[in-house]
Amino acid sequence: MSNIVSNEQIRLGDREFSRKICRQVKNLSRCYQCSMCSDGCPVAYAMDYYPNQIIHLVQLGLKEKVLQSTAIWICASCETCASRCPNDIEIVHMMDVLRGESLEVGFKNPVQNISKFHEVFLGQIRKKGRIDEGSLLLSYELKTLDFLSAGNLREEGRLGLEMFRKGKLKLPSGKRHAHRAVKEIFKKVHSRENTRGH
Ligand code: SF4
Ligand code: SF4
Repeated sequence: MSNIVSNEQIRLGDREFSRKICRQVKNLSRCYQCSMCSDGCPVAYAMDYYPNQIIHLVQLGLKEKVLQSTAIWICASCETCASRCPNDIEIVHMMDVLRGESLEVGFKNPVQNISKFHEVFLGQIRKKGRIDEGSLLLSYELKTLDFLSAGNLREEGRLGLEMFRKGKLKLPSGKRHAHRAVKEIFKKVHSRENTRGH
């Protein structure tokens, strides 16, 4: 860690931030930096800090580094790290908690538009109980206005048509799936987060 933070930064670490995250993530303080999580992470190559480094930064209370990292947004919640961790640390949940903290604090997201994608994705799950690729794509494009950038409209239109032709993209549908059960899950997650945060 000494190559990514100085002793002075460690001295100035925000201990309250560290305690707050540790309260919400089971076994976080047990991490002994074996790196098993990062060695198995399929997207670690694209992160600025590996998952084990994020944990260490949290323990040191280096709030800004953690909440402005690309790692917390690039994490694909695939659970590989958690299944490899010998200490049963809830790494995936930690990434979720950190994303929430980052949004709450209002840091500029280092990965362009990714928080908008998360909003659209979760909004659709909450509303329909599942993802519908066609309307997900449409809502995302409308939210980001990405298609207005030079060349994007043509390229994305071409890609969309190709996916549609191959049956990978379905037309938006208003159908709901297990709506009540999904609503219940969101309710439980909110109340769990509220309890853990205090
Ligand atoms: S696998 Fe577990 S103990 Fe090892 S570095 Fe990752 S979180 Fe820490
Ligand atoms: S859950 Fe996130 S951090 Fe863990 S292995 Fe998957 S992508 Fe990497």
